[in-house]
Amino acid sequence: MAKSKTVWVCQNCGVESAKWIGRCPSCKEWNTYHEEIIAPASTRDTGFIMNQEKRKPMLLDNIEASENGRMKTGISELDRILGSGIVNGSLILLGGEPGVGKSTLALQLALALKGKKILYVSGEESEEQISLRAQRMKNSNPQCYILSETDLESIINHAENIKPGLIIIDSIQTMNNSALESSAGSVTQVRECAAQLLKYSKITGTPVFLIGHITKDGTLAGPKVLEHIVDVVLYFEGDNNYVYRILRSVKNRFGSTSEIGIFEMIETGLREVDNPSEMFINQHDEPLSGISIAATVDGLRPFLIETQALVSSAVYGTPQRSSTGFDIRRLNMLLAVLEKRAGFRLGVKDVFLNIAGGIKVSDPAIDLAIISSVLSSNLDIPIARDTCFSGEAGLSGEIRPVSRIEQRIGEAAKMGFKKICISKYHRNIQLKRLNIEVIPVAKIENLVRALFG
Ligand SMILES: [Zn+2]
Repeated sequence: MAKSKTVWVCQNCGVESAKWIGRCPSCKEWNTYHEEIIAPASTRDTGFIMNQEKRKPMLLDNIEASENGRMKTGISELDRILGSGIVNGSLILLGGEPGVGKSTLALQLALALKGKKILYVSGEESEEQISLRAQRMKNSNPQCYILSETDLESIINHAENIKPGLIIIDSIQTMNNSALESSAGSVTQVRECAAQLLKYSKITGTPVFLIGHITKDGTLAGPKVLEHIVDVVLYFEGDNNYVYRILRSVKNRFGSTSEIGIFEMIETGLREVDNPSEMFINQHDEPLSGISIAATVDGLRPFLIETQALVSSAVYGTPQRSSTGFDIRRLNMLLAVLEKRAGFRLGVKDVFLNIAGGIKVSDPAIDLAIISSVLSSNLDIPIARDTCFSGEAGLSGEIRPVSRIEQRIGEAAKMGFKKICISKYHRNIQLKRLNIEVIPVAKIENLVRALFG
């Protein structure tokens, strides 16, 4: 019988080495190698998996497979991201920062799947705590089994008895395979427990949902290592201080990764947001300066979002720059472009920028709205409420075309906007008869003239 061996494992990316290394040659992080004991492969498999017959090759024509093997979750935003439902035998990772609402989403899924046996395993909460959470959601599922357990062998034994239609593991970092001597949460444990669950899911055809915690910088052991093992990787994002959450797919063997799902955190759990544009635009009674609306696209989904800027004279010598939901370096670049190309003296001004709803926007098409907000606040002239913006700014002050412009214009028209400023350099825009005026701008100077005369 093979003996256990000791290896050093990078806790960041999972690369193994026979000896300690100060800096990981793979991910270039310092001081990430920890010693772990690896049991030989023969003892790592849990009893259930060892007892399975070895797989045999099958003739392609004899394999029965259909696209109908997908299970609708009852949460349409989640179905959309998974590519119309959960595929049988798939391993799905739901990653996100602590407190963002991963357990809430997972429990909501367990309760929404009526008529299916669900096994919800928690290594973090007791059965009572989970029951209380379910009560707060004002929902229940008579077929949902709750198990507070961290031992993998025991979980797989229970699963073998219950034969659930879906297993949820909350979280993979708390799971422990007793055949390994490393502690729960170490790279070896996380990878090995996921591999066992993968085997279980492929043998029985049961889909398994894994919850994985990541830290603010997204580097701690776990999800990053798991991404290669699982079929689908979903990330749940959002600022804990705000109510909006975005579910994003970064890997999907059974569908596209360009969809996003939007949720609102309310008292009874997560509410699906069908029309995000309505959520991210505040209603003001009277026009205010420093506010403009951007027509953005995230994934395939167009939505409108409010950008707010406050420009004021710097009180303490050095002007302050602050930005929430938008890259501060890009804000500094836009301010420099305004200074150099449009002659606005912003070097002596404090500039504060805020994207409504606490969400982060990386779509470059938001540039035009941000510039408009900054100029509006600087001149203290409000922008007409029926105007929105979609365009990227270049270093020479030119306004560049952006992707999916027809969708953006369509969304703006749908939301009742009468004018939209876009780049003059779009070619062949195919517009259906929409009740919206398109204002093409070539440069920032043109924008200033169009907005403030
Ligand atoms: Zn590494």
